[in-house]
Amino acid sequence: MPAFNPNDLDVPQGHFIDGVIVSEGTEWLPVHRPSDGAWYTDLPVAGPTTVDRAVASARTAFQCSGWATESPRARAALLRRWAEFIDRDKDTLARLEALGSTRHIQGVLDIDIPYSVDCIRFFAEWADKLGGDVAATRTDHLGMVVTEPYGVVAAIAPWNFPITQSITKIAAPLAAGNAVVLKPSELTPFSAIRLAQLAVEAGFPVGILNVVQGNGTVTGDALCRHPSVGKISFTGSTRTGTEIMKASAESGIKPVTLELGGKSPQVVFADVPDLDRVAATVARSILYNAGQVCIAGSRLLVERSIEEELLEKVIALASAERPGATWTSDTGFAPIISATQLQRIHDRVTRTLDDGATALIGAQRLDVRGDGAFYAPTILTDVSSTMEAVREEVFGPVLTVQSFDDEDEGFALAGHEQYGLAAGVHTGNVNRALRAVRRIQAGTVWVNRYGRTHDYIIPTGGYHSSGIGKDLGRQAVEASLRQKSVLIDFSE
Ligand code: NAD
Repeated sequence: MPAFNPNDLDVPQGHFIDGVIVSEGTEWLPVHRPSDGAWYTDLPVAGPTTVDRAVASARTAFQCSGWATESPRARAALLRRWAEFIDRDKDTLARLEALGSTRHIQGVLDIDIPYSVDCIRFFAEWADKLGGDVAATRTDHLGMVVTEPYGVVAAIAPWNFPITQSITKIAAPLAAGNAVVLKPSELTPFSAIRLAQLAVEAGFPVGILNVVQGNGTVTGDALCRHPSVGKISFTGSTRTGTEIMKASAESGIKPVTLELGGKSPQVVFADVPDLDRVAATVARSILYNAGQVCIAGSRLLVERSIEEELLEKVIALASAERPGATWTSDTGFAPIISATQLQRIHDRVTRTLDDGATALIGAQRLDVRGDGAFYAPTILTDVSSTMEAVREEVFGPVLTVQSFDDEDEGFALAGHEQYGLAAGVHTGNVNRALRAVRRIQAGTVWVNRYGRTHDYIIPTGGYHSSGIGKDLGRQAVEASLRQKSVLIDFSE
């Protein structure tokens, strides 16, 4: 296992603008390691002046570098080279990521970096396959729908999978010929700088990928409101998504892609052929990254006749989790990103217990020597759909359990009044599975599995307050382009 000493790392501080690191800020924010809560550096907050500098640099690069206008095959080659360099430098990147995030170094090496590298390669393949349409007009006219990049895309990322979320945001707009200004989360800011440095090393024109650091209300807001930003692509909470829509509306009506929160159900029917397999899937989909996953399967809905047996198996798996710092040789249960977030999780659990729920396990901190911010896997029963832990996104390892007696009741419980990001259905009955796909209102429905794969062609995005538009897939490329209609009269 590639364990490392967290005190030995050089952190690339600052913003990345025009190919160089820029250390300037309206203030400096302390940055802590989630695994032990220790402060390790300060982060400059980009105010409007620094944001303006980053956007102006991106705009110049978009207009003058040939990124969008010269050979798309050359752009694809640069994207592939960038992917190769990320893979080459995976050890450094993985340490940087594991130091400041909830991701264990082995998970970054085995999952996050290969996923991101492959994602860039997937979108690189689109670069020279984009075009428009010739329209059916009268024959002495030529009607065309021409696609063009927006120019500068503002990409804002969350902290839960810093590298993969950043790449998922920016690979498609870059492949489509846009310049990007990326703002990573202030909680996990540094791997993004290394990604941008590698892009320049791979041959990207300087300014095509800039990074600004800082918090949401100062840096994120200034970026969204900048007049030269042509489109905003955001992943984060529904609350922030609302602010971003406001900022877009108040600053020129910019198109937005919003990947937001979720409260996703896992519906288990008694006809499943292999309950052990289902239990493993249910446990993994709430415990992976300690539940800090937008698509976490946080609401278990189980047919009453198998509830007890399934819960026994899920409890056994959840109880076996042991916390571990992200830089140790053992892969442990992930820490919570911050002490504030841990308290938020615990408050939601406590209020739900006060309302009459029962904790089968957990509902408490899980500490190592009193340091760090770990929360115990928690399973809550005796809950109703109006209770806080069922209604609100907890973003922690908290599974609520409700049972049902028939299919209609199961599907009805699967619906959520606010969210519709993803859902899982476990059944041995193919007709029932197809009915579930029709009935459940969510951007993704998984049947007899849960979670994303390397099938980048399948888009991701939510219904209702879980978002607008899609990341991944052909849809993400289309969302990175705008359409211009052209009609030419060539009659004599
Ligand atoms: P968050 O909304 O607090 O922050 C996300 C990003 O937005 C950060 O970079 C933050 O600095 C920035 N931000 C905050 N306020 C802003 C503002 N007013 N203007 C512009 N930018 C602003 O979310 P988080 O806590 O970092 O991440 C967790 C949330 O993200 C959860 O709700 C989770 O479900 C969601 N998420 C969704 C997906 C998805 O694909 N749907 C993926 C990952 C995470």
